[in-house]
Amino acid sequence: MIFVFGSINIDLVVTAPRLPLAGETLRGTSFFTSPGGKGANQAVAAARLGAAVAIVGAVGDDDFGARLVASLADAGVDTSGIGIDPAAPTGVACIVVAATGENVIVTAGGANHRVGRGELHRLDERLPDASVLLVQLEIPVDVVAAAIRRAHARGVTVVLDPAPVTEVPDAVLTDVDWITPNVVETEALTGIAPLTETDARRAAGVLRDRGVEHVAITLGAEGCYYAGAEGSFRVDAPSVAVVDTVAAGDAFNGALAASLDAGADVTTALERAVAAGALATTKPGAQPSMPTGAEVDALIARRA
Ligand code: ADP
Repeated sequence: MIFVFGSINIDLVVTAPRLPLAGETLRGTSFFTSPGGKGANQAVAAARLGAAVAIVGAVGDDDFGARLVASLADAGVDTSGIGIDPAAPTGVACIVVAATGENVIVTAGGANHRVGRGELHRLDERLPDASVLLVQLEIPVDVVAAAIRRAHARGVTVVLDPAPVTEVPDAVLTDVDWITPNVVETEALTGIAPLTETDARRAAGVLRDRGVEHVAITLGAEGCYYAGAEGSFRVDAPSVAVVDTVAAGDAFNGALAASLDAGADVTTALERAVAAGALATTKPGAQPSMPTGAEVDALIARRA
């Protein structure tokens, strides 16, 4: 079973002809809300691929929180590890999208920023059921570090998506089995922009030297670069009709975790992760764009 320890947010999205200037009131063209948060997105991605998934995290005692828990449950995610924090609102992201596709985003982490001892305790109780722990950095990094340490001590495979990127101590990285930075995160963590294969190899080498066994650098339309126990190689992304790239990385991580949970080898797991990321770009939004196992199978078969 996969345990996701991470963020649960609601996205509040207004579309507008352009981005507003400071102090300006602009007439928008539409408004919608959609479930988000990297933790929740990745949990839904893994569940849609058929994996058994539980999420541990927190929402506020408000309507948004109740709706997010219900939508995770609808997606087949075990929500019994979600705490209701009476002292903080559910995390939100306020997003303005211009007609050009440009956006501005302001987030308020709310209950996500207060994830702590209670959630660690709930995770601990369930770790005996876990094969994979999937974490990101939208909740406090010291709490993520504690979760990683506990999971590693129990022999659980730890997958860290270092997003949004923050410095992660070496003592934590030595307990991480897989790290999945995108280009920007790779540069922030290593000082090397992985824009050529040589630089991707060097950047992955830095993370391997810091103690991570498997490094998978996601490269957008270029797929991903892997370095680890199985050597080093690139996995091409299939070419797809891109609608929006929101949550492509979340699809990649959810699919990687689902494949590892199912006992896939490294190459198969990466091929499925890359295909899931590509498929997520063909549909709008975050959680609704996560592909099914059949869709991933069909895309991989098309390439073979
Ligand atoms: P993030 O969304 O975290 O910034 P990336 O942009 O690297 O991460 O995308 C994650 C994965 O999604 C890539 O490894 C790739 O498999 C897939 N992907 C992203 N953008 C595209 C694209 N334009 N075409 C095909 N696949 C894509």
